[in-house]
Amino acid sequence: MKKNLKYEGKGKALYGTDVDGELIQVFKDDATAFDGKKHDTIAGKGALNCAISSLFFETLQDAGVKTHFIRRESACEMRIYELAMMPVEVVVRNIAAGSICKRLGLKEGLELERPLTELFYKDDALGDPMINTEHCELFGWATAEQIRDMRALARDVNGVMSKLLGDAGIRLVDFKLEFGLLNGAIVLGDEISPDGCRLWDMETGRKLDKDVFRQDLGGLSEVYHEVATRLGVPLA
Ligand code: 5GP
Repeated sequence: MKKNLKYEGKGKALYGTDVDGELIQVFKDDATAFDGKKHDTIAGKGALNCAISSLFFETLQDAGVKTHFIRRESACEMRIYELAMMPVEVVVRNIAAGSICKRLGLKEGLELERPLTELFYKDDALGDPMINTEHCELFGWATAEQIRDMRALARDVNGVMSKLLGDAGIRLVDFKLEFGLLNGAIVLGDEISPDGCRLWDMETGRKLDKDVFRQDLGGLSEVYHEVATRLGVPLA
């Protein structure tokens, strides 16, 4: 049973439960971009993201990746273990797109020779600036060992998700992960949905992720629905 609201962000909310150490993560219908400057409510997005994220977490757990996922509780709700979240986002890139193109002058679509991991400091007011391991150690955000664990897990996640999506004809271009501590160990948290990934159709290059909303390319719920259907995700 859902109890007190513990956190509310742009795309989701966290509630306590009657079980100590377990939370309910609610996926909202809100879509935001450009640090909240663009905002819309898209009916059905929460349920689609909950369904897709649940499939990703189940597949990752079956592959041996430690995550906070317990089960999908209802259409828009997921039961998770409570983590002490790290203030660091890990982005994995297989193809250049988004901020790396702006930062380094790369052409969108450039295939990277190997997956690249990048670290960002989670701070909305600062616009989540890019950081490195030294910043994390110096400012106490994460130890070198924790960064190593997060990067290794992020690479494992990339392998599992690239295969799952690839089998559905979808290229995993890049994605963002968040991690936390459970009994002192680094565990994958947050959500993994088309809100935090770039997904391109393998044949046409058509965008199937939140860039559709960011770049006004069409209906967001239609493309999320397509991703769910192609992955064979149960939507109820
Ligand atoms: P970029 O650094 O190119 O803006 O983003 C890289 C990848 O991480 C993209 O798939 C993007 O959707 C995801 N990402 C980066 N920051 C955030 C964030 O604050 N929230 C979400 N949901 N995804 C993010």
